[in-house]
Amino acid sequence: MVDNHAVRLDTLVTRTDRAPGSLSDVAPALHQTATFRAADDATFLKMATTARHASYYTRDGNPTISHVESLIAALEGAESCLLAASGMGAMSTAVLGLVRQGDHMVAQRTHYMGTTQLLAEVLPRFGVEVSVVDQLDSGAMEEAVTPKTRLVVVETPANPLLTLTDLAHVAQLGRRHGVLTLCDNTIGTPINQQPLRLGIDIVVHSATKFLGGHHDLMAGAIVGTRALVDQIWRSHVVLGAVADPFAGWLLMRGLRTLALRVQRQNQTGLRIATHLATHPKVACVNYPGLTSHPQHALATRQMPGGFGGLLSFELRGGFKAGNEFVNAMHLPARAVSFGGFESLATQPAAMWAGSIGNSAAEAAGIAPGLIRFAVGLEHPDDLLEDLDRTLAVVERK
Ligand SMILES: *Cc1c(COP(=O)(O)O)cnc(C)c1O
Repeated sequence: MVDNHAVRLDTLVTRTDRAPGSLSDVAPALHQTATFRAADDATFLKMATTARHASYYTRDGNPTISHVESLIAALEGAESCLLAASGMGAMSTAVLGLVRQGDHMVAQRTHYMGTTQLLAEVLPRFGVEVSVVDQLDSGAMEEAVTPKTRLVVVETPANPLLTLTDLAHVAQLGRRHGVLTLCDNTIGTPINQQPLRLGIDIVVHSATKFLGGHHDLMAGAIVGTRALVDQIWRSHVVLGAVADPFAGWLLMRGLRTLALRVQRQNQTGLRIATHLATHPKVACVNYPGLTSHPQHALATRQMPGGFGGLLSFELRGGFKAGNEFVNAMHLPARAVSFGGFESLATQPAAMWAGSIGNSAAEAAGIAPGLIRFAVGLEHPDDLLEDLDRTLAVVERK
């Protein structure tokens, strides 16, 4: 276990001590194996009967995976972490590991699309009822809690409008009613905000995004107390959405620069948001770091590390301007996802219309001219020049 009290997060990610199985390696060894040999009967019996044994069979555990898990746990200030094959693997496993038939859940309205589908389509098939409330209405969340409520699920900042959920409030509500609380911290990252320190019980990540940081792996993480994570592990080992050791090894490599990357993305994100906020072709910018963001005060309290590398903005020229923008930009790639080295941009209305329909997209607040911009590691001056050049060619209205 990495000691998370002794050093700052920038230093924590560089610690190489106690990599299981390492001899004198500075970079940790990759244990790319599905199974592990036992020397004798007694050892085999111990391996087979120990929960989360790190060197018995890789679906149960793996030294490379446990090493990454201990670093992510330390970054979130948690006792334990469970790595999964993807962010959705982590979210599905965490929820399925905690709820049972007849339970009720409360969730916020704006979630990652996959989470929305889990809550709306998968859980009801197993007799788990989900109430969806507006995350901006903190009274509504409390009113939705019933004696059957087991879990409250939130995500902050949420995609693509960067609305926040008040985590301290959710944590207090959970404690008052004896209900578990879970926060998707993918967009926040532990560098910017640490939900567990605000009293949230479980954090889930898509490590595919900022934690990995290089657009080259898929992984997810579940973080919390040892008791809760061990309980979820008992479903994890059966559901089988486990991370591959090589993805875990790449993730460890990505985590080495997490603090550095996120700090840079915070700075560039704020610069781009500030610049776009006064651009004549931009109707509005959604970024928690702007004083114009309706929840800027909450952002300042809840995100002490910074406001992140994801923003969105609405073009005055509507859908046509949005389409012209994504076709004219040079530096950002037109691709989903975020949190990596290269900036990415998409037009959510074009994506969402295809999956949930135009009217549902509008109802979710997705304006036709909205652009989601995932800040990468390019020089901020180059990104600003490219944005200006691109905006110069889009329709004004
Ligand atoms: C991407 C994402 C997920 C899902 O993660 P995958 O790694 O793609 O499965 C979950 N939550 C949020 C907020 C995400 O951005």
